[in-house]
Amino acid sequence: MKTAVFGGSFDPPHNGHLALCLFARELAGLDRLTVSVSKNPFKAPADASDDDRATMARLFVAELNTAGKFAEMSDWELQQPGPSYTIDLLRHVAALHQGDDLVLLVGEDSYRQIPQWRESQAITKLCDIAVFGRSGAKLAAASCGGILPTAMLFDFDMPVSATEVRRLAAAGQPVSHLVPQSIAAYIESHSLYRA
Ligand code: ATP
Repeated sequence: MKTAVFGGSFDPPHNGHLALCLFARELAGLDRLTVSVSKNPFKAPADASDDDRATMARLFVAELNTAGKFAEMSDWELQQPGPSYTIDLLRHVAALHQGDDLVLLVGEDSYRQIPQWRESQAITKLCDIAVFGRSGAKLAAASCGGILPTAMLFDFDMPVSATEVRRLAAAGQPVSHLVPQSIAAYIESHSLYRA
């Protein structure tokens, strides 16, 4: 079985995440996908609460599974006492699905940061890495020291970010063109990201 891991802040999940996961399912031949809500030590604190991000990630997984069930949401990282690291998540998933081939899904911006991640060499031993292009990610290249790990590169261009969704919501603008319908409804009904 081929099991993929896709971690993110999901603050909120958006159409870029959705397309990436559906592309990966087809192009990388995934049997299952773990979508993990992170407490990323490298990112600014999330705007939405952990509970809201977890709920939105569950809605996101339900959207993914409308085309046939393959994804599950994991709040394992949120339950850990401190910051969580990708290597810990991968070891957790590997223990759950022993014998599976693991694939880590990342956008190009995240990929370029991997040499700075904790135990980055252990990550590359534990899993394959599938990278999805992201406009603007090349800007991050200059700030990234170290050698980038071998990876499968997928041509991908969905210029959507959670930052842009939060910015629009804070300005009282619609976000329904950038996020799945269930997430747009959740943001609206819970007044998330309002300035
Ligand atoms: P923010 O704008 O708050 O930084 P984000 O849009 O990057 O958030 P995350 O939840 O931090 O969303 O991203 C999780 C993963 O999805 C990362 O590996 C990121 O590179 C990838 N990703 C997010 N959006 C895209 C996109 N539009 N194209 C390709 N990869 C993406």
